[in-house]
Amino acid sequence: MDYEKYSRNQLIEIIEELKLLNEALLEEKENEDRLDFAWTGNLGHWYYNIRANKVVFNPLKVEALGYSMEDLPEEVPYQFFTERLHPEDYEPTMDAMRKNMMGLTPVYECEYRIQAKDGSWKWFYDRGQVTKRDLQGKPLFAAGIVFDITERKAKLEELEMENRMLTVESMTDALTGIRNRGAIMDELKSRMEKSAIYKSPLSIVMFDIDHFKPINDTKGHVFGDLVLKQVAKIINEEIRGLDTLGRYGGEEFLLILPNTSRKSALQVAERIRRKVAEAAFPDDVRVTISGGAAEYKGMELLDFIDKADQNLYASKQNGRNKVTG
Ligand code: GH3
Ligand code: MG
Ligand code: MG
Repeated sequence: MDYEKYSRNQLIEIIEELKLLNEALLEEKENEDRLDFAWTGNLGHWYYNIRANKVVFNPLKVEALGYSMEDLPEEVPYQFFTERLHPEDYEPTMDAMRKNMMGLTPVYECEYRIQAKDGSWKWFYDRGQVTKRDLQGKPLFAAGIVFDITERKAKLEELEMENRMLTVESMTDALTGIRNRGAIMDELKSRMEKSAIYKSPLSIVMFDIDHFKPINDTKGHVFGDLVLKQVAKIINEEIRGLDTLGRYGGEEFLLILPNTSRKSALQVAERIRRKVAEAAFPDDVRVTISGGAAEYKGMELLDFIDKADQNLYASKQNGRNKVTG
């Protein structure tokens, strides 16, 4: 177009007209986007003039952040969004954008949180790219789409939390709250592997409540359950660090003692035996336990357990309320 034949006022008029046209086109484009995408409710488009540091976008992202278009400065700089980025998301987001600006990636993709007007955090999925560069390759213009994924993230978090709770539940013995048989056996397998790799000692103690059947028979099952809970609690309070306790069977407990020799395991077992024997149970019932210790010497899992079981049997044979190893 030859502008020289126009007066200054005519030129201003032309610019005004072009502005209007531009606005109309932008509006049309927005409507098109709304129609084009089924997720229209949470999709925004943005255009970033890098040299002028000016971001143009449809209102969806701004509305999602609790702002109205009137709240915004006339020209929205890039910093309007980056200043509100969550501190944890700032570097990864900037890194993704920087890489794209430098031409290292064809598009960038990232998820980040932005603080809304009311102080809450909103999650966005952003995907964009530099669409224009100058002759030297310097980025001039970028464009992209952005989704409000706050609800999806909340659901995901809820599911992850539920999952964690289910995992814990599936590993826990409902009565005593300590690990169940499956979980304590898994723990033992992993401890045996570590012990073999690091050549560190590993011991176990199998405990069994003495004459538990008569307690059950005379006092009832509910009372028996109480005793089981209390014994588990006493043992649990006596162990520390890496030690783990599980309910191996009805009234049998398996204690795993990493970095512990047979001799030390026997000392721990003896301390626990004494604590139970001295503990006050309801109705002045006396409760004792017997224990069998074993140290891992590269044998199979079942042979390791069997070694502890044999020593437990010896404790029973020798009058109960004893530990053997
Ligand atoms: P010993 O000194 O030789 O170990 O004798 P004991 O009576 O403890 O041994 P026995 O194996 O004959 O009995 C174990 C009893 O434990 C039998 C069973 O009724 C009881 N028992 C197993 N699981 C539970 C449980 O979850 N709750 C209750 N209340 N009792 C249980
Ligand atoms: Mg018993
Ligand atoms: Mg038993």
